Amino acid sequence: MKKIIQDLSYNELQELTLALGEKKFRAKQLYEGLTQGKTISNITSLSKAFKEKLLETYEDETVRIKETYVSADGTEKYLFEYADGNLVEGVLMKYKYGYTQCVSTQVGCRMGCKFCASTLNGLVRNLTAGEILSQILTVNALHKNDVLGQGKEARAVTNVVLMGSGEPLDNYDETLKFLRNVTAEGGVCISARNISLSTCGLVPKMYALADEGIPLNLTVSLHATDDISRARTMPVAKAYKIADILKACEYYFKKTGRRYYFEYTLIEGENCDEEHAKALIELLKGKPCHVNLIRLNEVKERDLKALGDKQAYRFLGLLEKGGLSATLRRQIGVDIGGACGQLRANYIEKNNL
Ligand code: SAH
Repeated sequence: MKKIIQDLSYNELQELTLALGEKKFRAKQLYEGLTQGKTISNITSLSKAFKEKLLETYEDETVRIKETYVSADGTEKYLFEYADGNLVEGVLMKYKYGYTQCVSTQVGCRMGCKFCASTLNGLVRNLTAGEILSQILTVNALHKNDVLGQGKEARAVTNVVLMGSGEPLDNYDETLKFLRNVTAEGGVCISARNISLSTCGLVPKMYALADEGIPLNLTVSLHATDDISRARTMPVAKAYKIADILKACEYYFKKTGRRYYFEYTLIEGENCDEEHAKALIELLKGKPCHVNLIRLNEVKERDLKALGDKQAYRFLGLLEKGGLSATLRRQIGVDIGGACGQLRANYIEKNNL
């Protein structure tokens, strides 16, 4: 596979452009074209000779949308294909204030969570920063008529969540580079405050992230209230204790001044009885955090059941009564395999890949 041009920052593109004997302003044209989601060969402002030189080293089409599914509620789900044929998926959720795109950071995942389809076949490979960014560039280009904002700020995707396949902190360097490039002024320029990074709780990397000083929303997948139960559905719990995760979250708050979030997927008979609500309140009360309760998207390869609607609201009520800030996520895109990794898993199965 050739290199990925979207890995480069504006400054790096400038260096490359000069090194190839082109004038500096060509770097700006190249950057603008890439930011608009164009392939190298489709950037009409550049000379054929320059593009040919670039194409000796860089992929022309970093990623393409192989399939699109549109849910009855407007949510869109994409199957992205990279130059080496690897597939990841992404979701676009449409809200009044803008579009939120859920991006993937790895092909597959090696965390092994029992409820998650992304991890069914383990980790295939990390995505590079530019491969992650290109998911957004492609979707922005697809929706270029749904632009919000004015002038240079105008774009369709206003919010990003790193909640697709993969564990972002297991691909730390590329994820960080992606975060720097996606927030850079002059590029797609998404505010860090509009970005949420979800982790299963890789504690040392949570500290490292806090020290980077990027004011994004840190979200931890908790899904249990004690380490033994957590290890039943999340093998990573054997490596990192809930108590240490909470300490890392507090450090994050101290460093960034931003409250943090927990995801708690409701799995019937596993983590959502009254005793679990009590334990969760005990664990999180008084902390500057918010709990997002998620309904389980049942994965057919896994024998875990979603909690009924009524009980889900009851669980939410218990948390609120106990003084926690919590919400129950509206379930969207279920009819199109909305959960992590479901679409890719189905596609691979259907096509005997
Ligand atoms: N690796 C990161 C990002 C994963 S996806 C992490 O673990 O946080 C984002 C969220 O979706 C996580 O909280 C994950 O546990 C949850 N999730 C995965 N599969 C799910 C499913 N089938 N139903 C409901 N939530 C799921």
